[in-house]
Amino acid sequence: MTVPAPERRRLGRVAAPLLAALPLLLLAEPPRPDPVECGRGALAAHPEAAAKAALARRAAREAGPGPSHVEGLDRGVDVLTYDVSLSVDPAREWLEGRTVIRLMAAVDGASSVPLDFAGSYELVEVLRDGRPVPPSSRTSSRLVLPLDPPLSRESRTTLEVAYRGAPPGVGALAFWGSPDGPVVTSLSEPFDARTFWPCVDDPSDRAVVTVRATVPPGVTAASGGLVTEEALPDGRRTFTWRLPQAIPTYLVALSAGRFSTVTSTYVSRDGEVEMPVVSYVLPSTLAAATTHLAAVPRHIEVLAGIFGEYPFVDTKYGIVASHFRGGMEHPTLTSIGSELLGDDSRDLTGLLVHELAHQWWGDEVTMRTWDDIWLNEGFATYAEVLYDERADGVEPGPNLAAWYDDGRYSGALGATVVADPSNPFRYTGAVYEKGAWVLHMLRRLVGDEAFFDALAVYRQRHALGNATRQELRSEVEEVSGVGLKQFFDQWLETPYRPILRVTVGNVPDASAVRVTVEQRQGHAVRHPQAAEGDASWYAFPLRVRLTDASGASANVTANVSGRTATETVTVPNPLGRPVTKVVVDPSKDLLKILEAATVGG
Ligand SMILES: [Zn+2]
Repeated sequence: MTVPAPERRRLGRVAAPLLAALPLLLLAEPPRPDPVECGRGALAAHPEAAAKAALARRAAREAGPGPSHVEGLDRGVDVLTYDVSLSVDPAREWLEGRTVIRLMAAVDGASSVPLDFAGSYELVEVLRDGRPVPPSSRTSSRLVLPLDPPLSRESRTTLEVAYRGAPPGVGALAFWGSPDGPVVTSLSEPFDARTFWPCVDDPSDRAVVTVRATVPPGVTAASGGLVTEEALPDGRRTFTWRLPQAIPTYLVALSAGRFSTVTSTYVSRDGEVEMPVVSYVLPSTLAAATTHLAAVPRHIEVLAGIFGEYPFVDTKYGIVASHFRGGMEHPTLTSIGSELLGDDSRDLTGLLVHELAHQWWGDEVTMRTWDDIWLNEGFATYAEVLYDERADGVEPGPNLAAWYDDGRYSGALGATVVADPSNPFRYTGAVYEKGAWVLHMLRRLVGDEAFFDALAVYRQRHALGNATRQELRSEVEEVSGVGLKQFFDQWLETPYRPILRVTVGNVPDASAVRVTVEQRQGHAVRHPQAAEGDASWYAFPLRVRLTDASGASANVTANVSGRTATETVTVPNPLGRPVTKVVVDPSKDLLKILEAATVGG
């Protein structure tokens, strides 16, 4: 598994403020071809994305055709709690586990529970309400337990599965060597929780999870929530981690190694809570990691200022060193590659902020189905841009244009933002970077006040729950009063981006300008559900900076309807003198290819 290092973010954080300060000299980007194939552009994969993408690719390949690894199967049950007990030694690829699942029937007559679980483990014991129960069936990824007698709706039962064996060679758990001894860490997203514990591996079935890890002397086990610790007579220790909030299975994590801790404090916005920020790093990386992690309370403060209080402020936040060169947003304990933490030449700000932002977007509010993974990743990626704006004054449009855009019609951003639910990380450019662009364009369309108010409504309505793009749309519509069907269709459901030629013409008395926009892309906007008012071309407000012969400038906005490939919009000319020069989209707020921008007759 190879994950690109976050060089782009490091460069971006140096260059973007300079870029924002430069005068916008270019009138137009060079012409681009209009291909129909979607390929990778020059944009480096998001530093977080590659590890997740590799897991998703493998899961999709292993599952083959059929929905076995995809959520949405009607299992007829709702899991309430998981107690996941694991006995693990980082030096030995072996697991002994016992998972207790308390669940409630979601339908009348639920007669079985299909659990996702790797078939490679030996089952030691399977119990229902304390009595042995033989599984109905077992495959390489599914364990079906009978409910006999069937459960009536809302009645509850407890299942218990004890198992042991070597974890699958490629799965959530990685056993790895370090200068500080062996370590075991996990990365389950999207479909690998089942490779170390039996569960309903569906992001919409949230449950309260306790992770109880028994480890050898000297080893510390870390997970989400708060911990209690118990010494066993044989010298081993049991760490019991409990997070009171219900979370999806893909966010459950286990890390164990000979960690050093780095601690600091975040003070809540109302000053009432002093929350511990506790991180677990390898002793050999302690100096560099301590430097990187010193900024984390400030990151929380900035994001809490944008999105509202940190969701798990009654618990903790922290970082744990991990095996992959990226990050993973486990609730209250983000995993970051140990190699990155140990390298003090890197700026990890973008990656740390991205993972922290997932505590709101992904962990507290989770996409209901994997096709909406952009509700996690587009949000967390845009949070990097918002952080730069809030903390360092970096203009978001130029930041997006410089570091989150390959500039290519069919490049990394060329796929649809709506993902394939069986392989959600296939096109990470679309999910991460174009997803961030969508949010920025939405913000510019409805305005800052409505945008951030709508995010607050979206967060509050779906907190510790799930959300869909349709729900996001209706909530932004509700707050802003702006109809967004065309916007969501053209930016989320449609691949690529518009290709524009813009001509600005003067009228004889210079009281107005005629802005002619020609859309030259080779595709039509997709409308999964057709409705009156749908446009086949892109609709957007196009800002244009007008300059006259004296050098005076003013911005105007032409509202492009998308009804026809070419349309001319007449807008008042605030300069009152003929325009001699134009800059289209001077704040770089529109995802597009601009082939030409000229002053016509
Ligand atoms: Zn992410």
